[in-house]
Amino acid sequence: MSKAISQVPFAQNEPVNSYVPGSDEVKSLISTYKKMWKEKTEIPMVIGGKDIKTDKKIQLSSPQDHQHDFGFYYEGDMSHVDSAIESALAAKSKWNALGWEHRAAIFLKAADLLAGPYRDVINAATMIGQSKNVHQAEIDAACEFIDFLRFNVEFMTELYAEQPVSDAGIWNRVEYRPLEGFCFAVTPFNFTAISGNLPACMAMMGNVVVWKPSDKQVYSAKVIMDVLKEAGLPDGVINMIFTDGKETAEKVLAHPDFAGLHFTGSTKVFQGMWKMIGDNIHNYKSYPRIVGETGGKDFVMVHPSANIEAVATGLVRGAFEYQGQKCSAASRAYVPKSLWNEVKAVMEAQIKTIKIGSPEDPSNFVNAVIDKNSFEKCKGYIDRAKASNDATVVIGGKYDDKKGWFVHPTVIETINPYYESIVEEIFGPILTVFVYEDENWEDTLKLVDTSTQYSLTGSIFAQDRYAIDEAYKALENTSGNFYINDKPTGAVVGQQPFGGSRASGTNDKAGSKMNLTRWVSVRSIKETFVSPKDYKYPYLG
Ligand code: NAD
Repeated sequence: MSKAISQVPFAQNEPVNSYVPGSDEVKSLISTYKKMWKEKTEIPMVIGGKDIKTDKKIQLSSPQDHQHDFGFYYEGDMSHVDSAIESALAAKSKWNALGWEHRAAIFLKAADLLAGPYRDVINAATMIGQSKNVHQAEIDAACEFIDFLRFNVEFMTELYAEQPVSDAGIWNRVEYRPLEGFCFAVTPFNFTAISGNLPACMAMMGNVVVWKPSDKQVYSAKVIMDVLKEAGLPDGVINMIFTDGKETAEKVLAHPDFAGLHFTGSTKVFQGMWKMIGDNIHNYKSYPRIVGETGGKDFVMVHPSANIEAVATGLVRGAFEYQGQKCSAASRAYVPKSLWNEVKAVMEAQIKTIKIGSPEDPSNFVNAVIDKNSFEKCKGYIDRAKASNDATVVIGGKYDDKKGWFVHPTVIETINPYYESIVEEIFGPILTVFVYEDENWEDTLKLVDTSTQYSLTGSIFAQDRYAIDEAYKALENTSGNFYINDKPTGAVVGQQPFGGSRASGTNDKAGSKMNLTRWVSVRSIKETFVSPKDYKYPYLG
């Protein structure tokens, strides 16, 4: 293939199935869910292309029914971390030497497998293991992951095509080499697409990877490895291990060949890993690349000119879809006094119609939070708000853990703009509202900008164009993704590059060319056609 300058297929966003009641697509997905629900799945680690089983079996239970055991995975120890690193390094030279068209073809094939034969399987695994309803599973596990794969192939070729100019008599080129050594991907529970993309995009750029998924996402992680294998990813290029996060990080980040960290998860964990990298800096062969997309406390700022139904809908969808377990979820809102009673009434009316339960019933809009810890955390915020003089639970406030980890959509109103639930990341279906006096619009913009450590997503709702412009300027650094008259969630690959700064991450925008540049090390090549034969320049006479 070195005898052509190939063009990859034009990337387009995967159409989202609507799963309307009674449709063939919903029947097919729910029947796959039911079948997989009954099976006892067995999930090995994958190191050097081999399934690795240990004597430590960890039972898998579903958030929507914590007594339902749907199988187990094999937990590894530090010897598996060592062998994952060795396998990655052993696979490196062959993978590095393979032409980019072959790498592109593998990931394009993976995208087509996900769009076709694996669509129901990866969606159902995400519904069972991570408690996403049909729509949330579809936009994440199927569509966003497919988009990451297809768009990154296109971005890779755009990057490779970026070449320097050449003066007369010379030819300048740049080559986008993979990093020397191996890369480390550490991924969160809440997005199957992120989990697949983090190791995949590094591998796409020619790197070899040790991947540690969240222990709460192993079911869909297994499907990702199955798809990549079927797509032809060579053994050892991505090695998936189920090991303790902290111990694994300590081992991997101390290795001299460690070359890059691609992390998505909470702020504290990322900061701990960055520290470990700092402590090991003199051990490495190269300075490692560090990319982390972390927590959020995402705002909705409402101007008195805003449309009430649009605000209420943006808040209900933004705060409660996937139980608020999106890094981008609306979790703090600032509403002018003149609108609050009406906004609250519309929200109450909408929330009253929300059904809560298992994703097996597609009419449930809200499902379970991920685990007992998350349930207890949400319960704590709700109970403390009920007892606080600074806060009132104005909508919801119920929770029930008899069968699954169910927390009802909850709205807390606070009179203290620094109250715990309006500044801390909860990662559950809890929205806190601060009602401001209409004339305090400008001061409230300052408050939105300064009251939390995060800067991930945020929305402004207003009809007044001057107000939109004022918010746009005042909140320039308050979010990495800024929405006007829309909810702050639901970024689409290729359309709204996603990521935040401050305590929310390094803002390297997942699913963009900017992100891919982090996983390559450029070599500049200058070729002179007719080399000089005398050292004397003309100025020497
Ligand atoms: P988490 O930080 O608990 O876990 C993330 C990963 O880190 C998991 O694989 C986990 O096993 C591992 N880990 C845990 N402790 C570790 C340690 N001490 N050292 C090394 N690794 C460790 O996050 P989570 O609960 O899986 O996901 C939710 C968090 O992720 C939220 O804070 C959310 O905002 C964030 N998130 C951010 C984005 C983004 O793009 N900014 C996207 C999704 C999720």
